[in-house]
Amino acid sequence: MQPNPLQHLMPTCSGAKAAAAGSVLTPAASTSGEHADPRAGTVRLNEIFHSIQGESTWAGAPCVFVRLTGCPLRCTYCDTEYAFREGRTATLGEIVDAVRATGCPLVQLTGGEPLAQKRAFDLIRLLCDHGLTVLIETSGAVDISPCDERAIRILDIKTPGSGESARNLWSNISNLRARDEVKFVLTDRPDYEWAVATIAERGLSERVQRGELGAILLSAAWEQPKGLEIAGCAGLSPRSLAEWIVADRLPVRMQTQLHKIIWEPHTRGV
Ligand code: SF4
Repeated sequence: MQPNPLQHLMPTCSGAKAAAAGSVLTPAASTSGEHADPRAGTVRLNEIFHSIQGESTWAGAPCVFVRLTGCPLRCTYCDTEYAFREGRTATLGEIVDAVRATGCPLVQLTGGEPLAQKRAFDLIRLLCDHGLTVLIETSGAVDISPCDERAIRILDIKTPGSGESARNLWSNISNLRARDEVKFVLTDRPDYEWAVATIAERGLSERVQRGELGAILLSAAWEQPKGLEIAGCAGLSPRSLAEWIVADRLPVRMQTQLHKIIWEPHTRGV
């Protein structure tokens, strides 16, 4: 068996220092002044693994995932509650080295909410500097404008069924670029109708047609049991969503979470 180049970056979760619930995390290094060498900056890292991209128009491509700790939201359907608090401090340099050691040209920052940590923006820049294609999966509740322009943002627009639609930072919509994508995770028919109205009100289809936005993604939420900090979700049938999209001739791209079909839905690190 090949040695895992990412093994040394796995956190020791049981000893993880808990962050304040619902707060935006700030890594220790960001409070002690600027680093001359951005590689020496630190973030709180939940996990890093090499797998298959499961969502977005990049689905199916081998990808390295860097999951950062902490999220200010508590979506009903969240499947990464363990990333709210578990993790360890890691330098940007060691993360970049571990990603490059895999030989995979595609990397995704995820969470949690990766952009809730100030040093995430330095990490994005470093990964781009090494010629990697960098995807950022973000909740839509944090300002995306500081992201390196070479990175590709996959921006959630939180529906009422998520319980977090009040957190949508609508100014992010005007910051979207040609390769960025927006994603709606839908829990029921009212969520679908809300998404249809939002796509129209925000002119998202027109932006895709003009080449100013990469894609509009609609996804059916998976069933998620109630957790310690999330309410849980009954899930939405993918078939129902597919039929609604076809009936309405909606110019969107439906997606599933491919990794949940390949592996058991609650498997971590895939
Ligand atoms: S699904 Fe919601 S609560 Fe979970 S990590 Fe994403 S934004 Fe945070």
